[in-house]
Amino acid sequence: MTIPLDLAAAEAAVLAAIDDARDALVALSLDIHAHPELGLEERYASAALTGFLAARGLEVERGTAGLETAFIARGGEMTGPRIALVAEYDALPELGHACGHNLIGVAAVAAAVGLNAVSDCLPGQFAVVGAPAEELGIGKIVLRDAGVFQTFDAAMMFHAGMDTAVAPTFIGIQRVEYDFHGAASHAASAPEHGASALNAVRLLFGYLDALRQHVRSDSRMSGFVINGGEASNIVPAFSSARLDVRSPDPAYLDVLVRRVHACAEAAALATGTRMESRVVVRIEPLLTNAPMASLFADQLVRLGVPWQRVQADGAASTDMGSISAVLPAIHPIVQIADAPTAWHTPAFREAAASPRGMEGMLIAAKAMALTALHLLADPARLRAAKDAFAARAR
Ligand SMILES: [Zn+2]
Ligand SMILES: [Zn+2]
Repeated sequence: MTIPLDLAAAEAAVLAAIDDARDALVALSLDIHAHPELGLEERYASAALTGFLAARGLEVERGTAGLETAFIARGGEMTGPRIALVAEYDALPELGHACGHNLIGVAAVAAAVGLNAVSDCLPGQFAVVGAPAEELGIGKIVLRDAGVFQTFDAAMMFHAGMDTAVAPTFIGIQRVEYDFHGAASHAASAPEHGASALNAVRLLFGYLDALRQHVRSDSRMSGFVINGGEASNIVPAFSSARLDVRSPDPAYLDVLVRRVHACAEAAALATGTRMESRVVVRIEPLLTNAPMASLFADQLVRLGVPWQRVQADGAASTDMGSISAVLPAIHPIVQIADAPTAWHTPAFREAAASPRGMEGMLIAAKAMALTALHLLADPARLRAAKDAFAARAR
C-alpha cells in the first residue's frame, strides 16, 4: 500500500539519502573511471552499477533486450506511472572516460538511491535503465526497438559538460561507411594496371571539403580512413572510410546524406573503383520536453546552481535523441569544467574524476531525483509533460 505522500518531507528524505550515500557513490564513480570499457564490453561497470543497486533492494534485471551489459533496476510501486533514469557507462578508445559516462551512470544510480528512500510512499515506479554503448550509438536504439522505453512515461539523464544547460542542443547524425574496391598492381612497375581505392577515399574527403562550403552552417561532416591500403609498393585494392553527417534538422540531414553519397559515387567514377556503402547508425536530434526541463531547472535553483537554457556551442549528438522521439525526455548538461576543455579529450577525462566532477554528478542526481519525485507525486506535472510531447510529435 502506498502511504500518502508529504512532498516536502519526501524531498528532504530524497536529498538526505543521496548525501548519506555520498562517499559510496563517489567511490563507485571513480572505480568505473579507473576501469574504462568500450561499448558493449562494459562488464565491469554494468556489474558494479547493478551490484550497488541490488544491495540497496532494487529489483535488477540484467542482459535486457539481449544486450549483455544492459540492465533495468526497478524501485517503488509496480503500478502507477514509471520514470526512467538513464545510465551510460561506456568509454572511448585510447582516451578512457573522456566523455564522463562514469558520472552519468552513477548519477542515475544516485537518483535511484534518493527515490528509494521514499519508495513506500511513491505513487509510481522509478527505474535505472542501463544503456550500453552510447559512443557507438547502439544501446538506447536497441532498447527502444525492443520496446523497453515505451513502457515508461518519461525518461531523463544528464551529461557533464562545460556549462549548465537544461535544454541543450544535440543534433541528428547519420554514420555511414564507404568501401571502395579497386585493382592491385605493382605501384612502380605496372601502375597502369591498378585502380587505387585509396585515391577514391582521398577524393571523397576532398569532395566533402568542397561540399562543406555550401551547406547550412549548423551542419557537421567528419570522418576517418579505416583502411588505406597495405604497402607502399602495391596499388591499394581496397580502402574504406567512416563518415559522420550531422544536422539539427532531420529532413536536411537526409539531403546532406544524399549529397555525401553523390561525392562517394563521383570518387568511384573518377578512379574506376566500385563503391559500397552502409548506414552504421542513425540518431535523431534531441527533443527536450519543456515542462520537464523547467521542473529540472527549478531543482537547480533550489540546489543553488546557476543555469542557462541552451549550451553555448551545441553540435554533438546523443542516442538519447532517438529516445526523446518516443517519450517525454530531458538530457540536461551540468558543468564540471571550463572551456576550452572539450568532450573526448584527456582534459575532460581528468575532469570526470575530479572533485568538481563528483560535485556535478551529485547535483545532477539530486535534481533528477527531485524532478522524478514531482512527476510521480503530481499527476498534473506528468500530464503537462505528455501533452507537450504529443504537441511536438503532432
Ligand atoms: Zn562522447
Ligand atoms: Zn557522452
